[in-house]
Amino acid sequence: MKIVIESTNFCTRWPCYFCDGHTSKTSLLAVAKPESGDNKGERVGDVCEECLKAGPDGMKRRVLEKATAAERYAKDMRTLAERLQGEPIDAPTHEEFVAAKAMQ
Ligand SMILES: [Zn+2]
Repeated sequence: MKIVIESTNFCTRWPCYFCDGHTSKTSLLAVAKPESGDNKGERVGDVCEECLKAGPDGMKRRVLEKATAAERYAKDMRTLAERLQGEPIDAPTHEEFVAAKAMQ
């Protein structure tokens, strides 16, 4: 993986390719480009300044942390989905919610 600095016309906060962070609103971005594989040399994502500060080993650690958190989240969502299969959901309709908001 190669990280290169590129300029952009879109000064917005982009999600980081490696962690849950975002880039700064700046006209310069650190761009991740694989050095092998089907997408060799292509822009696959942007890298936030915290990952740049962490350095190459820190970037790898942050990707693993993101993967671990995603696995934990997926497990929690699977548990919730399975639990909801066995019980009804007693919820107001959207219309009831909108009417309640209108009466505030
Ligand atoms: Zn990051």
